[in-house]
Amino acid sequence: MRFYIEMINVGFGDSYVINFNNEGRMVRILVDGGPERNPINIDNIMDMIQPTHSEENEDHGCERKSINGIVVTHIDDDHIGGVLKLLNHSDVEKYIDLSQDCFIIFNDLVDPATISYKQGIRLKKIIDKFPNLSLVRTYEQNKRFEINGFEVCVRGINKLEPINKQEDLIIIDILLPLKETIKRLMKKWNVQKKDSKLINESSLSFVVNYKGRSILLSSDNFYSRILEQLQNIKFNSTFDLIMLAHHGSISNNEKILNLMDEYHCKQIMLPLSKSTSHHPSTVVLDKILERPENQLFCPVGLHLLSNYKDSNQIKFVNLIEI
Ligand SMILES: [Zn+2]
Ligand SMILES: [Zn+2]
Repeated sequence: MRFYIEMINVGFGDSYVINFNNEGRMVRILVDGGPERNPINIDNIMDMIQPTHSEENEDHGCERKSINGIVVTHIDDDHIGGVLKLLNHSDVEKYIDLSQDCFIIFNDLVDPATISYKQGIRLKKIIDKFPNLSLVRTYEQNKRFEINGFEVCVRGINKLEPINKQEDLIIIDILLPLKETIKRLMKKWNVQKKDSKLINESSLSFVVNYKGRSILLSSDNFYSRILEQLQNIKFNSTFDLIMLAHHGSISNNEKILNLMDEYHCKQIMLPLSKSTSHHPSTVVLDKILERPENQLFCPVGLHLLSNYKDSNQIKFVNLIEI
């Protein structure tokens, strides 16, 4: 397998690893880490990212290696929490390859006058302890990394620039948040009561492209805004997989079918291991599954309402090949 996603059981929250493999040379990127307080979550993350040499993995040509990059999509606990735990872990160097270039994509909102969101500050302090771990703030910079023979290119949307096509090129195109969203969030940084909609609007939404395949990862952002942004930048490729936004909630996924139509996508992933009454919303699931050609990937063990029990459009798997 060349390009695949492994979803990690972290209960209610997101955590998954994007894997790129060329004959055993790999780049692995962890996206989010689920909530900080869930005791099983750090074990499951570590199990997923520790180097293993099992026969099963070798059969799949996907022997696991430590990770080379992290994406922290936003500061909600069900995303940032597990990453804090991982970076604070005494064995962290076993899990992240700090011997060469590695990166963390995180809009840390550094401004001593306004910063006050506790987990964001803690993460920033921890990142400072690792000199090889480059911090990428998506609203102000583009970055390139050479990792295990791959070129990883992180592009902020206002600075799209041509890239020399090469064999092992991984492109991460950041769609959202826009700088103005970050600015609005910073203004509210010190307010005691969190503006949860605004925090979700600050979620990183991005496209990952490798070997001509493209996936769209929305995190907790809104498909109405993502669609608008794709149209603004005249994005003209198709998507092989997209992610349900905000754990399948109704307001964030209002425009998901429009987006799927426009970009010819029939495969959806929901990296959520524990559902709640509105996550995922049955309205959203019904809308997607109404079309027999659509396929939804959920982690093994996710409990959905019984009306979806026999749906052959839902695949309960932890690994999705792109
Ligand atoms: Zn969330
Ligand atoms: Zn959120």
